[in-house]
Amino acid sequence: MEIEDFERYSEIITNWIANHYREIRNFPVLSQVKPREIFDSLPTNPPEEPEPFEKIFEDFQNIIFKGVTHWQHPRFFAYFPANTSFPSILAEFLTSALGIQAMMWITSPSAAELEEKVMDWLKKMMHLSENFHGVIQDTASTSTLVAILTAREKATDFEINKNGFSNQKFTVYCSEEAHSSIEKAVKIAGIGSNNLRKIPVDENFSMKTDLLEQAIKEDVQNGFKPICIVGAFGTTGSTAVDPLEQIGEIANRYGIWYHIDGAMVGSALILPEFQHYLKGINTADSFVFNPHKWLFTNFDCSAFFVKDKRALLETFQLTPSYLATDFDQQVNNYRDWGIQLGRRFRALKLWFVLRSFGIKGLQDKLRYHISLAKQLEKEIRSDCRFEILAPVNFNTICFRYKPTDANLTDSELNEINKNLLDKINASGFAFLSHTTLKNKFTLRFSIGQTNTTSEDVLNTWKLIQNLVGR
Ligand SMILES: *Cc1c(COP(=O)(O)O)cnc(C)c1O
Repeated sequence: MEIEDFERYSEIITNWIANHYREIRNFPVLSQVKPREIFDSLPTNPPEEPEPFEKIFEDFQNIIFKGVTHWQHPRFFAYFPANTSFPSILAEFLTSALGIQAMMWITSPSAAELEEKVMDWLKKMMHLSENFHGVIQDTASTSTLVAILTAREKATDFEINKNGFSNQKFTVYCSEEAHSSIEKAVKIAGIGSNNLRKIPVDENFSMKTDLLEQAIKEDVQNGFKPICIVGAFGTTGSTAVDPLEQIGEIANRYGIWYHIDGAMVGSALILPEFQHYLKGINTADSFVFNPHKWLFTNFDCSAFFVKDKRALLETFQLTPSYLATDFDQQVNNYRDWGIQLGRRFRALKLWFVLRSFGIKGLQDKLRYHISLAKQLEKEIRSDCRFEILAPVNFNTICFRYKPTDANLTDSELNEINKNLLDKINASGFAFLSHTTLKNKFTLRFSIGQTNTTSEDVLNTWKLIQNLVGR
């Protein structure tokens, strides 16, 4: 492709994107293709000869597009938002055009210094403790793995890094509602999933801290070494918040690394009305949240904060001679702050977003989403055929259909609600997902796409009411 072609085609693509966002409500949110449909519509062999852009783009529109589930559809209410915004998309154009590797300062000083700057900005916006150091990781899963590896190394004076495992057994703690990425990290870090203690939760799905302390004591008596507690600031199931401050006290008392997973809900710390959580957050050794979930920044962009920078670097630093530079004492080489060597220039899109929205613009958006959640909660509560299954703390509503006239068991209700969810999603009008809370099949309605309106939420609620009949 010549540069003149690139000029022409990029205009075609930009127009297509703008049009796509204009028309996005016309497409089914959940892709309606069958398994293997896309794979089977594509040629068995790669092309021998070059193909024209027009042909490739046509196939994108005719084949690929119908297999896309529209995360940027304003009626995408499944899982969690992975919202984006035009400033973020434009910055991603530039990032891909520059095509840099942000592995160390010298490989692009702007990438390293902008990363430090935007992470400082986030810290200020959220009033995080001054002694946190920020770095952008690809995902919360990676951030949590990095935290647990650092915790393991700090607890063993960096012994496993050097000599591998001895006979010592380690334990990690989280609530039974914690995200699966914690168990995954515990597996990969060589701690073993049987040594992850999933502490029971109370009626609000928050960790019971007396049981946490009891588990730690028992483990110590039985010769285990507790190395990390993971607190949840917004569980995936119901956005429950663990008693963050009390966990901090326990972690402090027993000298255990304290990591807080705020993957989606962490963004809410930019709002003064959620600042009461800060005291707990600031007791942590590390904290992660994803601007790529609920802060209008394209995936991937995970903000990871850690207090003991020395422990982090000692866990991950390795400087072969071909990577040593004269500036290593004065700058951040982010390859030493995590697992990857090659890294994307992720700070650029976050910078575009923070500047384009401003703190006020971001706050307005989040408050709007939260107000929509409250509005929907009220609607659901006023229809006696439905019940709310967890406190609505932020932007996510957990509920189920439960007709009052019939005397149905939980397992019958689970079946009915699963069918209801399938019908909602097959309609293409909206996309919701589910979880299980106290053995109840639960519909989750998570509000956070950038352009979602009150109409999107209320029309989806009407659809649900119509599907269960009058
Ligand atoms: C989404 C989520 C994660 C995983 O985030 P990734 O960035 O996809 O790894 C972890 N924890 C919680 C609470 C989440 O909601």
